[in-house]
Amino acid sequence: MSLEDKKRRKFIKQTTSVGILSLLSGAGIYLAPSLKASEPILRPPGAVSEEQYLKLCIKCGQCLQVCPYDAIELEDIDGGASVGMAFIDPQKRGCYLCEAFPCMLACPSGALDHEHDNIKYVEMGMAIINNIDACLALSGKKPPKSAIDNIYNHTKILSDQEKESKKVNLTGNETEKEKLQKDVLIKLDTLKEKPCSLCADMCPFPTSEDAIGMIDYKGGLMPEIREACVGCGVCVEMCPVDIIKIVPRKKYSDIYIKGKKNV
Ligand code: SF4
Ligand code: SF4
Ligand code: SF4
Repeated sequence: MSLEDKKRRKFIKQTTSVGILSLLSGAGIYLAPSLKASEPILRPPGAVSEEQYLKLCIKCGQCLQVCPYDAIELEDIDGGASVGMAFIDPQKRGCYLCEAFPCMLACPSGALDHEHDNIKYVEMGMAIINNIDACLALSGKKPPKSAIDNIYNHTKILSDQEKESKKVNLTGNETEKEKLQKDVLIKLDTLKEKPCSLCADMCPFPTSEDAIGMIDYKGGLMPEIREACVGCGVCVEMCPVDIIKIVPRKKYSDIYIKGKKNV
């Protein structure tokens, strides 16, 4: 085969691969299952760079033991290179940005940097909204009961009676962990009968309106992600129609143009 033929074959191979990827993405299929394993993973607050994290996390589980919200898990066998390391799946439970960041302070290896135990240093990732037309706020619908019930299932501290009734009360005898998790549900209870804005109402960022707010859109309302978002994932946990995602380790300026309606 001549050099020219070799070059032509290489070119066809490259352009065909790009073409297939474009077709898949045009059909809304962005990643093959085998590529999904390499998607960035949401780490607990204070995590050092992913490269460093993979070297430093010793899979000890200290961070998840002290997390009062049970937000942290250790990766199972599907975790590939980082099997056994700490991560957060925001669909199951976001990070509630505890004031003193006990996870960071408990980490013995430096995988979670103790120096970052202040909200101004937390940059877990950035929230993005896909398919805004599915947002319940656009048509003023309240969250479906099944979605509220599902959030009750995210907590492991409830009594059988509370699980059954989907109603919690503070008795004064709770541990700090029980109280914090019940506080989430008590707040949720005040929101379940109003038009959905759970993502914005439940955002734990200390000045939440700097991270997310509701704005007018198409005759209704829609959530707007703002500059202070730290990617804690609570809005993902709350969203009844699953249209919010966290892009780990990205900042606002990596994704958004300031002042532009981001839909
Ligand atoms: S800040 Fe709090 S809620 Fe978030 S992961 Fe750490 S301990 Fe858990
Ligand atoms: S405490 Fe630190 S080293 Fe231990 S599992 Fe959590 S992140 Fe990894
Ligand atoms: S908008 Fe709020 S709840 Fe959602 S990821 Fe950002 S800081 Fe967390």
